[in-house]
Amino acid sequence: MKVVTFYKYTEIKNSEKFVEEHLTYCKKLGIKGKILVSNEGINGGISGEDKKVEEYKKKLLSYSEFKGIEFKDTYSDEYAYRKMFVRVRKEIIRFDPKVDGKKASCKLSPKKLKEMLDKKEDVVLLDVRNRYETRIGKFKNAIELDIDVFNEFPEKINKINGLKNKKIVMYCTGGVRCEKASAALLNQGFKDVYQLDGGILNYGKECSDAHWEGKCFVFDRRVSIPLDSTKEVHPISRCDICNEFSDIYVNCKNVECDKLFICCKNCQSRHKGYCPEEIN
Ligand SMILES: [Zn+2]
Ligand SMILES: [Zn+2]
Repeated sequence: MKVVTFYKYTEIKNSEKFVEEHLTYCKKLGIKGKILVSNEGINGGISGEDKKVEEYKKKLLSYSEFKGIEFKDTYSDEYAYRKMFVRVRKEIIRFDPKVDGKKASCKLSPKKLKEMLDKKEDVVLLDVRNRYETRIGKFKNAIELDIDVFNEFPEKINKINGLKNKKIVMYCTGGVRCEKASAALLNQGFKDVYQLDGGILNYGKECSDAHWEGKCFVFDRRVSIPLDSTKEVHPISRCDICNEFSDIYVNCKNVECDKLFICCKNCQSRHKGYCPEEIN
């Protein structure tokens, strides 16, 4: 099945009404996914049979608000989402203080980035994703900010103040977070800031896994995907219980805990899917 993610910062006037109609449309089409809509735009992912996904893309492109929206295609053995979910949110990505997504930095194409990395140019790679994402995969030598949720990004800018005059290329999964994060950096006086166009997913499609290590965390049932599906990926992370190399994320079997943690196959069967806090 095809999985497609997309976003666009654009003014949506009557988001309540749009959401209602859109949910009905998606259900009728027989796709599954998660789509957030706000006055500032749309951010989502859907999965389904190729034909239906392509039909969905056409539908979205038929709205003047979504003209030029870009889609990132990946694949899954089954529906990547359990149901169809379309909701109104205050923001498509929560971020305080408010920044204008339209003041985002210039975009850098995957090919350009690969070229820069091939030539070992003096550039700082900044990963703006959360800790649990960077743990299982990232660009080699990228700087991480060690955050739990994206909204912690603004307060972590201090940590990288020394890089104000460096050339910075930031990246996230599909690009939606970089639009805000790059605007925030420019606001803080960073001079030479770029965002990877279309994020890691677009990079994987264009440049395979060059300069990348591990897998890419995704926000659907697959949890993670390789950038190059033809290659065996060596995990860069370790099991939270036995410390063996593993990149398998599970949610704690205790539904009240529900903690997301890395657990190798052995520990999954030995401890029945309970997290480290509950097996002692
Ligand atoms: Zn283990
Ligand atoms: Zn637990």
